[in-house]
Amino acid sequence: MNQVRPPAPQLADIEPYDPKYIPAKIMVSANENSSDVPFDIRREIERETRKVAFNRYPDPLANDLRDLIAEANGLDRDQVIMGNGGDELLFNIALAWGGPGRKFLNMPPTFSVYKNNAQLTNTEIVNVDRLADFSIDEDAVVARLAQGDIDFTIVTTPNNPSGNIASNDFVARACEASDALVMVDEAYFEFSRYTARPLLARYENLVILRTFSKAFSLAGVRLGYLLGSERVLTEFKKVRQPYSVDAVSQAIGRVVFANRAKFEKEIDQIIEERGRMHDALCALDGVEAFPSESNYILFRLADADAGQVWQRLLDRGILVRDFSRSAGLEGCLRVSIGLPEENACFLAELKAILEGAS
Ligand SMILES: *Cc1c(COP(=O)(O)O)cnc(C)c1O
Repeated sequence: MNQVRPPAPQLADIEPYDPKYIPAKIMVSANENSSDVPFDIRREIERETRKVAFNRYPDPLANDLRDLIAEANGLDRDQVIMGNGGDELLFNIALAWGGPGRKFLNMPPTFSVYKNNAQLTNTEIVNVDRLADFSIDEDAVVARLAQGDIDFTIVTTPNNPSGNIASNDFVARACEASDALVMVDEAYFEFSRYTARPLLARYENLVILRTFSKAFSLAGVRLGYLLGSERVLTEFKKVRQPYSVDAVSQAIGRVVFANRAKFEKEIDQIIEERGRMHDALCALDGVEAFPSESNYILFRLADADAGQVWQRLLDRGILVRDFSRSAGLEGCLRVSIGLPEENACFLAELKAILEGAS
């Protein structure tokens, strides 16, 4: 039998993405919304999806959905582009603005997908590490951009996994520092209620990434979008898979976006629970919880082995995310804000585990 020749060399250092998504009673590892789409909206979705012709290709650009999103943001259709989840658009920025001989400025610790996409596309990664409290080293980033050789950068706000936001003053400075494309990843902006959108009118080199996966309970459906200048989004159209956003997802997205006001109460509750969770985590001995403006909290264990605590939580039916082997995140776990009873259960079990360990 023939052996297979090696794949493209840049794959050698890449690990397949593994979210360690193990079924558990309480799933608080992936920053999903613990509540599914409300029943009345689901009924409307069922009515809409029944009209979809499965035998026909979808509208490649999802123009009806683009129009809804554009209108809500005071933009034109040409300033919006849809993707198969935000993740597709993160891959597309690396395809369109990265590549051999080109440079991506990353601000780790942050979302690991950015680094992977840069590696896949043979884009050089220039790291400007975050400070110890996970805030961006703003002057260092601006100075590095000002050298003029960076092709694109991604500012995550709130940052995943640390939960802190980047200010619009900083985003504006980053946009002014050079002509690099600056993506602001606002996957969680509904929980911070803070957006760089007002800056779009001023900077052609700014794009904003958003998703339906978190606040809008659609992680299973795969819808994300970009807001940006027509000039930039035209380039994204060149690299995208023509039919990446299927007709069923488009129909679901239209209904959910039109009903987005109905998610506000849930978002309020998550924000309230986040405050309670943060206080409760800080009150535990040996736990340092980082302030979060998102729907998750990163915390560091001073005395206990984080990997072991992760396993003990899982043994008790609670799946959180273990970052303890990631650079800059030693000793850290991340818990998503779930339903009030899930959060209470998580806190009680964590307390019991830590008390048992000491
Ligand atoms: C979840 C997430 C996204 C996008 O997720 P999709 O499900 O692909 O839309 C983008 N950026 C960050 C930082 C995220 O956490």
